[in-house]
Amino acid sequence: MTTAELHEDTAHRGLTPLLDRARVPAGDEGPPVLGSLVGGNAVAPEGEGTVRISPATGQPAFRAGDGSVTAVDTAVARARTAFDTGAWGRATARDRARVLARTAHLIEAHAGELADLLVLETGKPIREARGEVAATANAFEYFGGLARDLGGRTVRDIDASVFAFTVREPAGVAALIVPWNFPLGILGQKLPPALAAGCTVVVKPSPLTPLTSLAVVSLLLEAGLDPDALSVVLGEGPAGAALVAHRDVDVVSFTGSTATGRHIAAHAGSQRLKRVALEAGGKTPVLVTAHADLDEVVEGLTFAAFFNQGQVCVAGSRILADATVADELAERLAARADELVLGDPWSESTQMGPLISQQHFDGVRAALDTSRAQGVRVLAGARTPEPDGTRARPFLDPTVLWTDDDESTAARDELFGPVTVVQPYATLDEAVTRANASAYGLAASVWSNDIREAMDLTLRLRTGTVWINGSTDAYPELPLGGRRDSGHHAEFGREGMEFFTESKTVQINRGGRKDWYTA
Ligand code: NAD
Repeated sequence: MTTAELHEDTAHRGLTPLLDRARVPAGDEGPPVLGSLVGGNAVAPEGEGTVRISPATGQPAFRAGDGSVTAVDTAVARARTAFDTGAWGRATARDRARVLARTAHLIEAHAGELADLLVLETGKPIREARGEVAATANAFEYFGGLARDLGGRTVRDIDASVFAFTVREPAGVAALIVPWNFPLGILGQKLPPALAAGCTVVVKPSPLTPLTSLAVVSLLLEAGLDPDALSVVLGEGPAGAALVAHRDVDVVSFTGSTATGRHIAAHAGSQRLKRVALEAGGKTPVLVTAHADLDEVVEGLTFAAFFNQGQVCVAGSRILADATVADELAERLAARADELVLGDPWSESTQMGPLISQQHFDGVRAALDTSRAQGVRVLAGARTPEPDGTRARPFLDPTVLWTDDDESTAARDELFGPVTVVQPYATLDEAVTRANASAYGLAASVWSNDIREAMDLTLRLRTGTVWINGSTDAYPELPLGGRRDSGHHAEFGREGMEFFTESKTVQINRGGRKDWYTA
């Protein structure tokens, strides 16, 4: 099959039948029209909506509306009722676990279609898309298990007459706001724990990547979830802002940029106080010591920097290398970057596809221009190729930079593209100080075969995650969250599910009151 046939085939298969529920009747002209999915039914967009050009095909993929405030209100009202008096609010832990397990199986059964949709909406290579689908099924499976073990604790020796325990209860209506870089994977970090805890949910995907969210919600409904318990509202900031401020939303779980996170933190309390989990930007420092295995480092960091076109919150985008190895490392990384295969995302041999959109591409290019003007050296990339079999799409070559300047754009800011910068350091103390000076605190990685050195660095780095001789990998069992401008509240693990619960304390007085006042 040629590339063009593949695209046509995918566009045809991708928008049927998994997205049927969300399709809004429209004429034969133009791309399919998608609406918000509220209570299991499509809600026609108000106005024209926006056509999304797929970065994978360069063609219009769908037209989607701006989720109106009315759609947000309806979705929240249904979620409120479903939680307060509906079937999901009364479901047992086993009921919830079974819906999540069935969904995991359905995701696996539809893995091919979901991976195609993911390529269509993001432009990421098909092999990475398949991995993201598998990781999402895994998250549903894991949280399905945890649903049956929400826990709590008992405290018996408070004094002679008081026995107490805590119960974990669902938080209520959860708003989940999802970015475009892993539209399915990040939905998988939020939706399974929210449902496992017993919450009802309104999802707002990025307007660039709503397809996989709509598809997974359809699968959940097929798995038996009450349609009122889960809606998807499409649209940009205003739909998200309406959700964040809504009186009937109990908790907000957001992943996206630090700028939007700041906005959400400021507005979440406007109508009533509510808890917010913020997973925001990052600039992951990678410390390579003189005791690292350079062969492993080069391979590991090529992946860490350029996987998903570098559009990864924990990308290895800033490499602090011992001055005795920095030159060799930079040279070898640049050589590996030049070897990477860019091209048609549906080709099995492609390692990097286009960036998410022309607008995002323009932003990364502008940051590279600024970096050059700041004296940063380009060792590889920073070009805009047009690989064989592709038309003009936002491709950017994997780029390796070099600078001593910690205040340069390349060393300080999250560029969110296929760009990494190498910076030499003289001592380990200096490396730790420079790494910790970042405004971000999401993750770090340490490359050293000396266990004492690696552990010492790990404990001194102020980030939510540290990988030793590794990078970027995430597992549903392990919490992943940031500090400082990278946000707060980890996702995944028991901690990730606890965010969607409230703790209630129960005291049982076994002895009657003995005194007017007991301290
Ligand atoms: P973004 O902040 O532009 O958008 C994220 C989501 O928020 C989208 O659904 C968007 O429509 C919505 N939104 C925008 N304005 C809003 C508002 N005022 N109120 C409520 N919602 C609003 O981010 P993006 O460009 O989609 O994603 C890239 C960013 O996400 C990067 O900064 C990256 O580091 C970050 N990210 C962080 C993690 C993490 O785990 N910390 C993971 C992935 C991505």
